[in-house]
Order: sequence, then C-alpha cells, then structure tokens
Amino acid sequence: MRILVTGGAGYIGSHTVKELVAAGHYVVALDNLSRGRRAAVRQAKFVRADLADQKLITELLRAEKIEAVMHFAASSLVGESMQHPAAYYQNNVVNGLHLLESMRQAKTPYLVFSSTAAVYGEPTETPIPEEHPTIPTNPYGATKLALEGALAWYSRAYGLKYISLRYFNAAGADPEGDLGEDHDPETHLIPLVLKAALGQLPAVKIFGRDYPTPDGTCIRDYIHVTDLARAHLLALKALADGKEPAVYNLGNGNGYSVLEVVQTAEKVVGRTLPKIFTGRRPGDPAVLVASAAKIKRDLKWEPLYSDLPTIIETAWRWHKKHPQGYPKERKIT
Ligand code: UDP
Repeated sequence: MRILVTGGAGYIGSHTVKELVAAGHYVVALDNLSRGRRAAVRQAKFVRADLADQKLITELLRAEKIEAVMHFAASSLVGESMQHPAAYYQNNVVNGLHLLESMRQAKTPYLVFSSTAAVYGEPTETPIPEEHPTIPTNPYGATKLALEGALAWYSRAYGLKYISLRYFNAAGADPEGDLGEDHDPETHLIPLVLKAALGQLPAVKIFGRDYPTPDGTCIRDYIHVTDLARAHLLALKALADGKEPAVYNLGNGNGYSVLEVVQTAEKVVGRTLPKIFTGRRPGDPAVLVASAAKIKRDLKWEPLYSDLPTIIETAWRWHKKHPQGYPKERKIT
C-alpha cells in the first residue's frame, strides 16, 4: 500500500516506518522536525512539512496517491500539556482536523490514529478496557480524545475508515539497533534512568511516593515500541480487509511502579543508581494498566517483547551505542 506517516521521524513513527518498509509498503514520512529526528528516517521518502500547511498535505496525498495515513504527529507530554494547553489544542486538535480535511478532499480512505491511555483519566477499573469512561486528567489526553470524537463523526458522515490505538507507555528500542528514543528535552522515565546510568544525569528523579499504590509510586504498563509498530500494520490490514472503525488499547497488561522500573533498569545496567524523591508531576494518574484483550482477539496482536527487562535491555543497547542520540549534523532534505 502507499502510506503517509505523519510524525514519521518521531520515536514511535520511525519504528513504524521501519516495519512498514520491511513489509513492502511504499512510505512517505512527514515530519516538521520540531521533535523528530531526520536521521531516524532511512528507508522511506522524507518530507519536511507541518500539518498546519493543509494545502501542501492535500497535494501530497494526491501526488503520492496515498491510500492510508498513519497519524503520529502530535504533542505528547502530560506535564507540558498542563502548562501549555493552547499548544496541545493547536497541534493535536486543529492540525489533526486539517489532516482529516486533507484526507477528505484527496479521498484517502484509511487512517490509523495514535491515541493514548491518557484519554481514560483516573481509572475506576484495572486493567482498563476500551469501554472505560473517558475523563482525561490532562490536556494531552483531552486533545487526543477530541480528535477521536472527530474520527467517529467523519467515519459516520464521510465514510472514513479508521482504527484508533490507545497506547499505554511506549518504551524500548529497535531490537536490531537501528532506531531508538531520542527526545530533547527527555522527559520519559526509562530513557532518563538510562541517562543516569550513563552518568549524564546526577540522579533519577521519582515523581511522587504518596500514590495509592503498594510502594507509593505510579504504576504504568510499558509496551515495546516495535510491538506498538506491529499493531499499526495489523490495524491497516484489518481496515483494508473491510473491518469497521474501532478503538483498541495497546499495552501488555502488566503494571510496574516507577521504583520497579528503576530497580529493573539497575539489574540491566549492573549497578545501583542515585535516586531523588520529588513531588508528584501534575496530571499523572496513579495507575494505568491496559486490557489488550480486544486487539488480541480482533487483530491477533501478540507482543514479541513483553517483559520489562527485555524492553529495558533494548533501550540500554541503543543508549550505550548512541549516548548523544541520533547524529544532529545530518543534512535536512
Ligand atoms: N516519572 C518519574 N520520573 C521521571 C519521569 C517520569 O517518576 O523523571 C514517572 C511519571 O510520573 C510516570 C511514569 O514515570 O508516573 C512514566 O512517565 P513517562 O513520562 O515515562 O510516561 P507517561 O506516563 O507520562 O506517558
């Protein structure tokens, strides 16, 4: 198929581009490089553009005869979203609607959307099924949910065929070592722990130890980025086979506390790390663990790298080999 991947130079987008190309698809990776890395896109055509440029996107869909879009391009940090909700509404909702309009004009039928566990808010039930109430506790979750709402109505009125994937915590790196996680600034737990292990940070900060969890730190469900990427291919195939629009959770169903993540990382890197306990990060729910029963049943998705030590090992291999992340000097085309 001919596929446009928005945010194709980002962490999850670039891993998905790699899987799509390996499966024989023609891929155009689009990214404004505000957070993405040009060096993360190797085998696909790369276009540097912003979703705000709706005319360009429509023309691109037409010129490249795109049949499906995978939409990763978004702002995705809970803490940042609490401080800058306007930027989140602009990037995630307004630009998302631009993309839907471009697809409508170019008659592009299929969309796989990057959604998030943050749409649920504070869970009333764990593991969380897709029918769980959606009451986000931060603008990140609220903006992703807003676009999910638009997808449902676009589908009903205009026949858009979509699958929305609600990711829990993406982690790890390409097991072949080509790609990894390189955010600037880095805010995610596992890469920060590994940066502490590399001596790039003085200590691991632990946000809150008074949550209603066994050790007082937040519990999350970590899913390997390649397993996430593979789910996008299954979603696309399901849409092409005529599957009705759907929403799926993507996680492993295992919850690990922040302290458990740090301890597991310590085993992987072979030494203990300095830790500092600080206050809670605003917007963080105490526990987020997925029920992925629906995607396993409907799309036959099964994770290949489900255990936390393996997930952290793949990330550690990447960080050791690329302590400064991707090369920054590569020329932008
Ligand atoms: N966290 C932490 N210290 C850090 C970064 C994150 O204690 O330096 C916690 C954070 O509060 C959350 C969990 O680790 O409970 C995972 O956070 P991350 O930012 O990796 O992912 P998110 O859950 O926001 O998608």
